Amino acid sequence: MLQPVAVGHKTLADYSSIVGRTLVEEIRELAEPLRGKRVLHLSATAFGGGVSEILYTMVPLMRDVGLDVEWHVIYGREEFFNATKVMHNALQGNPLDLTEDQWESWRRYNEMNARELSRGWDVAIAHDPQPAAMHTLAPEKARHWIWRCHIDLSTPNPGTIERLLPYVQTFPDSIFHMQRYVPPGMDGRVHIVPPAIDPLAPKNMAFSPEDAIYICDQFGIDVDRPLMCQVSRFDPWKDPLGVIDAYRIVKQAVPQVQLALVGSMATDDPEGWDFFNATVAHANGDPDIHILNNFNNVGAIEVNAFQSHADVLIQKSTREGFGLTVSEAIWKARPFIGGDVGGIPLQVDDGVSGFLVSSVEQCAARAQQILEDPGLGRRLGLAGKEHIRKHFLMPRLLRDWLKIFTELER
Ligand code: UDP
Repeated sequence: MLQPVAVGHKTLADYSSIVGRTLVEEIRELAEPLRGKRVLHLSATAFGGGVSEILYTMVPLMRDVGLDVEWHVIYGREEFFNATKVMHNALQGNPLDLTEDQWESWRRYNEMNARELSRGWDVAIAHDPQPAAMHTLAPEKARHWIWRCHIDLSTPNPGTIERLLPYVQTFPDSIFHMQRYVPPGMDGRVHIVPPAIDPLAPKNMAFSPEDAIYICDQFGIDVDRPLMCQVSRFDPWKDPLGVIDAYRIVKQAVPQVQLALVGSMATDDPEGWDFFNATVAHANGDPDIHILNNFNNVGAIEVNAFQSHADVLIQKSTREGFGLTVSEAIWKARPFIGGDVGGIPLQVDDGVSGFLVSSVEQCAARAQQILEDPGLGRRLGLAGKEHIRKHFLMPRLLRDWLKIFTELER
């Protein structure tokens, strides 16, 4: 029923020269007394989205420092995932709440999974709302329970959060990206820990300019002309239409400029396809706008190549939980422009390590400024990369987890 996920092997020592020995030593000291602790991560899927992205690195690293860690994907069928998709959107502010049947399905699958869950865990961590009822339903299966919330709960659909709260409030410990995302009435200890990216994953590892150029060229990008690029799902909150509008303004001053919008699509997401088609329509056949998705063979390596080669990287979101794509982009040391929302300002110091914008016009003005002054772009890019190195790489997140595990034992 609950499916264990096979993850590869990773070694903390490999990260030493990227994040510095001090942090690695701090991690080893914290890990020593926790050796052998049985830790379980519970999540809804092993593919796609930020949670699985993080766990594929975090689980091997926790093992490497001596913990006995497993990651299990909960069992669910279509009705469950339809319900949790509605729940996810509603919790981030969508007016559509779950039907009674959908709530019932969410609870029933949580019951099944709670029943199947094995015993004897030192710590069980439920990621996001999908498995969030399991603590209430089977508290005896683990000595400690943590709810790890990866979404923005600051302006939820009131009806949805009211139904969810009784389940999440009772977790003795919970973790949020930002203080603002903590809903009122959390009874237990609340920890604020933002996520992180893996600098050694194919999506983020250093790429030679030649390899980046070779790949971009294959997708029809003219590698001798400037490129603006946004990588994200095709979703209204990511504002690809606004990016196209900003590009059009820039093009009046810099006629050679091109735009790449790169985003992965799920086959079972009709709304995503509708919005993808709306984006293509908005581009109106402009040959300098390249709209690419995973059905054009754009995977992690290609995302890396586009980000490494672009002259300006954009994440013009109007709503954003954290925005892993922001750290991923800035890590490539290219100049970055992001919407001044959600987790983006945490990752960008406006004017120092990138620019924050609140409109199409601002976005266009900053992009033009960067394109006309490569020295500025270089400075922003380098400052940005150091900010990410210090705050948003996986070993920092591992350290924060170990600190929380230590507190649990007190
Ligand atoms: N992603 C990807 N290919 C794409 C678009 C997104 O691999 O075409 C990845 C992206 O690199 C990031 C994750 O999906 O790791 C998205 O996380 P983020 O927090 O940026 O946004 P979300 O999609 O969760 O709102």
